[in-house]
Amino acid sequence: MTSVIDGKAVAASVLEECRAETAELKARGITPGLAVVLVGEDPASKVYVGSKARTCGDLGIYSRKIELPATTTQEELIAVVEELNADPAIHGILVQSPPPKHIDEEAVVRAIDPRKDVDGFHPENVAKLALEDNTGFVPCTPAGCMRLLAAAGVKTAGAEAVVIGRSMIVGKPMALLLMAKGSDATVTVAHSRSRDLPAICRRADIIVAAVGRPEMVKADWVKDGAVVIDVGINRVDDPTTKKGYRLVGDVAYDEVAPKCAAITPVPGGVGPMTIALLMKNTLQAARQLT
Ligand code: NAD
Repeated sequence: MTSVIDGKAVAASVLEECRAETAELKARGITPGLAVVLVGEDPASKVYVGSKARTCGDLGIYSRKIELPATTTQEELIAVVEELNADPAIHGILVQSPPPKHIDEEAVVRAIDPRKDVDGFHPENVAKLALEDNTGFVPCTPAGCMRLLAAAGVKTAGAEAVVIGRSMIVGKPMALLLMAKGSDATVTVAHSRSRDLPAICRRADIIVAAVGRPEMVKADWVKDGAVVIDVGINRVDDPTTKKGYRLVGDVAYDEVAPKCAAITPVPGGVGPMTIALLMKNTLQAARQLT
């Protein structure tokens, strides 16, 4: 029997933890605060920023949405970040990705005070993750994947884990988390230059797919009883839906699911976890800064 890992339910329980932690901080006179900076008019980014602000509001976290025009220069954006760095009401700062092309995203991330870098993308937090120093911030999506594995009762110690994708946002931090002490998996990181990806995946007890290619992972890539975490969010045309598209993961769910011990669906798997872990990171920042 395949167990479908319910990301919405696990995220809801993480958010309940956050609600209690927020109340505790407020009782000590500390209101946690998150600033989200959006440059330009990207419609998907607007939706993400809106839902981050709504989740903050629901938990009692102060949120500040800063919307800047697409013509904002890098210097202007960095000046906004520096103001937020100095603002005691703000504990977490994130600049919604992707910024317009004329902005060097890495330079902006480096301008964020690492103690407020709740996305976990600043080099200091990347280093802390590699060093297994838990005062740093872990990127929200891979942290969410680890929570899903734990919630599903998956034993990672000694397991063969294959992470497909080596991005700084998902693949690399995911590999570090799986190999860290306490998780103790044996990790292979595959990417666009990997030879014979199906054979690599067939070894895996745990597959984490973070590629951005619709339904790439097929049934014959997956061994019986594997656990599959599908991070991919891809739009595919579907004229039968009102919007004209639907969302699919990087895993061919219908054919892969019957072989798995456990699998995350798309949507409703990893997606809801990312925002929940962002709230967790904001509370960690508020605790550490006060
Ligand atoms: P990315 O484009 O930065 O990285 C993709 C990685 O996949 C690269 O390392 C590349 O080497 C690898 N890759 C590309 N083609 C490949 C192939 N044919 N075979 C093997 N590896 C291949 O993407 P990302 O930011 O890591 O995101 C990956 C996916 O996860 C996207 O669909 C994105 O939308 C989704 N995502 C979801 C969440 C969430 O909250 N659920 C968060 C972040 C990203």
